[in-house]
Amino acid sequence: SSRIAERVRRIKQSPSSAAAERAAELRRQGKDIVNLVVGEPDFDTPAHIRKAACEAIERGETRYTATAGTPALRKAIADKLASENKLHYEPRDIIATCGAKHAIFNALAITVESGDEVLVPAPYWVSYPDMVLACDGKPVIVVCTEADGFKLTPALLEAAITPRTKWLILNSPSNPTGASYSLEELRALSDVLLRHPQVLVMTDDIYEHIRFDGAATPHILNAAPELRERTLVINGVSKTYAMTGWRIGYAAGPSDLIAALDVLQSQSTSNPSSVSQAAALAALSGDQSFVADFAGVYRQRRDRGLELLNAIPGLSCRTPGGAFYLFVNCGGLLGRKTPDGGTLQSDVDVVMYFLESTGVALVAGSAYGVSPYFRMSIATAVEVIEEGCRRMAAAVAALS
Ligand code: PLP
Repeated sequence: SSRIAERVRRIKQSPSSAAAERAAELRRQGKDIVNLVVGEPDFDTPAHIRKAACEAIERGETRYTATAGTPALRKAIADKLASENKLHYEPRDIIATCGAKHAIFNALAITVESGDEVLVPAPYWVSYPDMVLACDGKPVIVVCTEADGFKLTPALLEAAITPRTKWLILNSPSNPTGASYSLEELRALSDVLLRHPQVLVMTDDIYEHIRFDGAATPHILNAAPELRERTLVINGVSKTYAMTGWRIGYAAGPSDLIAALDVLQSQSTSNPSSVSQAAALAALSGDQSFVADFAGVYRQRRDRGLELLNAIPGLSCRTPGGAFYLFVNCGGLLGRKTPDGGTLQSDVDVVMYFLESTGVALVAGSAYGVSPYFRMSIATAVEVIEEGCRRMAAAVAALS
């Protein structure tokens, strides 16, 4: 018998972290690796944010804060939600966490009873199903097709709901597909949800500002304010402000959920880092002009990546509306033979072939619950994207 608990034995390391570590390992061995796995902005945290953190240290903001975060940070989050998202929360209905990931995990931990079902539209962010499993819940994967733009439809949602459904997790723009829901699509989903009052809605809005059309990302609560008492809004500063290492996320929602999150956090991590909170405060309340600049850079990379990928026979990629990934259909390569006599039978084979033959590191679609695809990051210099595509094109040309 293992001394590791069942709830941990049933989960696995995040496949994207595993792929990133594998790429780093090969690089250490001296291999020439083009890393297209990265899930974080390649920009540095903007200078005014770094400076605010240094100043907080010098002012002595190095002690415990309130578990849910400093009043100033929670006020800044409330202001951000009001001005950017038209969502109105009191600071007491907001909790700062150690990243959005922590907020999502804790939200499941405070609500999911053994056997409760959590609807996870696929392709999904790799962590959702394992987090549900770690909380003794049952992830119910709802596969959304490329023909539907990888988006959940009202019919799929209706068919997946049971009396045991506890949560629907919505992530728009999505990792890995970049799919972004319109206000009308959110309204159609909420019409279904309104018929099933047992279902809570968790919105993972972490990529809201990485969008290519310049428009604001609509929220399901903009479409259906009636859902407010059962919706938990999750967001954070990691992707928008290039602050992945600082670990600040947050949740806003009904007071019973926020109170329970506060209790759990008080008995586990306590407050997120005081210095990081000061940095996040500066990020949310300071100059926002570079946010649009970042999105513009991602857009150029997306366009270049799409152009090169779609020119490779056997690969195709639809145009993502946001986030910083391309989710590439590699069905056209299945059944082809590699120079050493193997046959590409799955997206995992394709990703392994690209890694071993040309040093291009990607993540297989199966990690996101849908095959045959792979995810290619565009959170890297355009030259790296070009080199990766050049190598993939050569590797595809070598197939028979
Ligand atoms: N949600 C999604 C969809 C993500 O892709 C990520 C990071 O990869 C996170 C949440 C985690 O964000 P944070 O750094 O705030 O924990």
